Amino acid sequence: MTPLLELRNVSKAYMRGVFGRERFVALQGVDLALDEARPTIIAIAGESGSGKSTLGLLVLGLLQPTEGVVLYRGKAVSTLRGADYQRFRREVQAVFQDPFAVFNPFYKVDHLLQVPIEKFKLARSRHEARRMMEDALQAVGLRPEEVLGRYPHQLSGGQRQRIAVARALVLKPRLLVADEPVSMVDASLRAAILESLRRMRDEHGISILYITHDLTTAYHVADSILVLYAGRVVEAGEVERVIRAPKHPYTQLLIDSIPWPDVTQPWGSKPLAKREGERASVGSGCRFAPRCPSAMPHCWQRVPPLYRLAPEHVVACYLYESEQAAQADIARA
Ligand code: SF4
Repeated sequence: MTPLLELRNVSKAYMRGVFGRERFVALQGVDLALDEARPTIIAIAGESGSGKSTLGLLVLGLLQPTEGVVLYRGKAVSTLRGADYQRFRREVQAVFQDPFAVFNPFYKVDHLLQVPIEKFKLARSRHEARRMMEDALQAVGLRPEEVLGRYPHQLSGGQRQRIAVARALVLKPRLLVADEPVSMVDASLRAAILESLRRMRDEHGISILYITHDLTTAYHVADSILVLYAGRVVEAGEVERVIRAPKHPYTQLLIDSIPWPDVTQPWGSKPLAKREGERASVGSGCRFAPRCPSAMPHCWQRVPPLYRLAPEHVVACYLYESEQAAQADIARA
């Protein structure tokens, strides 16, 4: 069956520097597939500069890959035209970090919700449009009578972010790209917004790419997780397994820095120390080598491939070279 979304060996590089001659690889060789029949929440986790937001923009078609391809329903997003493009625009929605960004202070909430309904001709009457708005607001835990007819400044940050989710929901999307949707929201409202995302998956069959630097919220909302470091996937798998028993030295370092068990505290406000120019210094080796307590000589020579430790768990680290071979032997026996 054709996946809803597929990334095949996707890379994105930018030219930067004073004369635009320095090639910066933001994302390298990412593979990912989402099945429409199994709605799921995948956390895309990493520190600032890991490539996680670049991945979101590539999925939304707002950036084009330098290599590889992003496919939606089997067609390259960059080639979608006409009805296919309109369908993609309606079915793939985004919620960003800043709930203020989508609001024009001069328009009431009603306008924000009405625009997509009109643009995609989703309602046959004003009455139907109103009902759709109310349904979307209720689905994210808001009472329509408390928010419709109001201006953005009359709402809290948490209400605004939930309206942004409702705006996406009104289009009945199949995929939502949620980029740090709770990082600017109070801890008390974070749980309510995460619950809205879970309901989108469970009650509306929507898959979600949950982009975050915060492993605590990823753990609470996601089914699986893909950890990025310096543009590469270093570990991916079922969230419980990866967070409770991380295998990659980078994931282990991240999880050690989480203030368990206080999950109301946002994690990642103190990024792990980086060494200047470390990306450039590792050449063709593992990008984590300058920070890795287990680095071996060959780690500096070649990028580690992804080793499969279980059907739903892969890790890019030479420490697991032999473990994969052992798994293969068990499978053959
Ligand atoms: Fe550390 Fe080597 Fe594994 Fe990279 S491949 S994370 S340097 S042990």
